[in-house]
Amino acid sequence: MSRTLAELTVAVRDFADARDWQRFHNPKNLVLALVGEVGELAELVQWRTPDEATELTATLAGRKAAEDELADVAIYLLRLADELGVDLSAAIEAKLDRNERRFPRT
Ligand SMILES: [Mg+2]
Repeated sequence: MSRTLAELTVAVRDFADARDWQRFHNPKNLVLALVGEVGELAELVQWRTPDEATELTATLAGRKAAEDELADVAIYLLRLADELGVDLSAAIEAKLDRNERRFPRT
């Protein structure tokens, strides 16, 4: 089952609400949590060669670790956008449009 960003945003919000975690989810805390999870993702490739990093998901354990940390990053990103009242899909679309004009195709 794949859900849209909007559906995932509601699911992540509901998860936090059900545990009374909303009180911790201000933008400052969420940015720091997001950075922490990006750090955990970075740890997976830290000290590896670029080729070794590319092969991270070649093993089951590596794939699981990458999926876990990518999900953590995405969850905090969705939570942060939600708390800031940002429509992440619209923001991504707008940025892609700007980048399309800014960086002409070769
Ligand atoms: Mg993590």
